[in-house]
Amino acid sequence: MTAGGVLYRARAYDTPDDPFADDTARPGFRYEDDLGLLVSREGVITTRGPFASVAAAHPQATVIDLRAGILLPGLVDTHVHFPQVRVIGALGMPLLEWLERCALPEEQHLASPDYAATIASELVGGLIAAGTTTSLVFGSHFAPAVDALFTEAARFGLRVTSGLVVSDQMLPEPLLTTPDRAHSEAVDLASRWHGRGRARYAVTPRFSLSASDAVLAACASVMTDVEGAFFTSHVNENLTEVATVHGQFPDRSDYVDTYDHHGLIGPRSVLAHNVHPLDSELAVLAARGAAVAHCPSSNAALGSGLFRLRRHVEAGVPVALGCDVGAGTGFSLFKEGLQAYFAQRLLGDQGFPLAPGHLLHLSTSAGASALGLADVVGDLSVGKEFDAICLRPPAGTALDIGLRHAGSPEEALGKVFALAGDADVADVWVAGEQIASGGFLRPVGAGPAVRPSRDARRTRSTPG
Ligand SMILES: [Zn+2]
Repeated sequence: MTAGGVLYRARAYDTPDDPFADDTARPGFRYEDDLGLLVSREGVITTRGPFASVAAAHPQATVIDLRAGILLPGLVDTHVHFPQVRVIGALGMPLLEWLERCALPEEQHLASPDYAATIASELVGGLIAAGTTTSLVFGSHFAPAVDALFTEAARFGLRVTSGLVVSDQMLPEPLLTTPDRAHSEAVDLASRWHGRGRARYAVTPRFSLSASDAVLAACASVMTDVEGAFFTSHVNENLTEVATVHGQFPDRSDYVDTYDHHGLIGPRSVLAHNVHPLDSELAVLAARGAAVAHCPSSNAALGSGLFRLRRHVEAGVPVALGCDVGAGTGFSLFKEGLQAYFAQRLLGDQGFPLAPGHLLHLSTSAGASALGLADVVGDLSVGKEFDAICLRPPAGTALDIGLRHAGSPEEALGKVFALAGDADVADVWVAGEQIASGGFLRPVGAGPAVRPSRDARRTRSTPG
């Protein structure tokens, strides 16, 4: 970067204000068709405004013109499974059968550190290709595999919160641990990774179905021992699972209470799914400030059910998106946004009427808030780190045609969620470092900044 910093010129969308806070406010997003974003050497956005005025005030800045595409904040995925990259696409089974036949056999292979390192590389590559720069990753049952994940994420500077998955019942024997080991291995991993670079530790019992009270208590003591640790698990995904958990924990009032009893539910907690919540559970989640990771393509693929977004919003429970690979059908949060929209449509009067601004919020700033990073990333405001993606659909694709002929910025954003996929994510930056461009990945510190290709500088008419 030059002494004057880098000045990105772009048509850009973001959601600095929560569109769910006022569901009558349209469009619910911020759009500029010739924005200037000055990014410092440290990767922080220092000036934002109309390009002409920012350029006039900072004549030394290197200008990178991205107007051939669309600039968005880096996407934030709040639920994705590290060991399940290779089981995506096994359709036709409900949750518990899918776990037994597909996910759990593959997860046992991560006992091999070499295999785990390969999968870590595939996962991180998949996230970057999808434009995901921040994620809460459900780790592995094997501590060396979790080391491999953090190592690979650090190579690209990705913001990853993850941890050791622990269970002491109901799973194949190689995936089981003991309460003592669950505690000691987690504390060891956290001492190596929590707060190092952009890594943070997440205490991760797989779900109450596979955890005794003793293991959940061990998780609680890790939360105490590791300051600022996150908590993540599954809840209320599938009706058979929910009924089994209720039977297994007769002294708890409901599924959420199996975690809350141990003090595991708080503002740094993210629970995946919650497709079948009780009102009492929503009230506890809201009171604790815990967030829910909504994973609509997984919910549909496993037939888990339609997510009650309106009840979450009305109860005041924050919701963000997760791809839930490998039950989810890919890493793209554009697809998850579209599937979230579909699910609400299918709920009819019970559904929440999602507009494009809601989908962008769910895919970016909502996730940043759920992960305690709202002051750092999630939108393109001054003071935020420059985590961003540029979409440049290949010429002649439906998205390319749609964007060139969109009648308004909102229409264009709707087309992004209807049509965008990994192939449209041309550039990815984390804290001002470009880590992907035109299909090539680039570890941080690997050389001079990658300039956009000539294609990136090609201008194109803006929507609206
Ligand atoms: Zn999951």
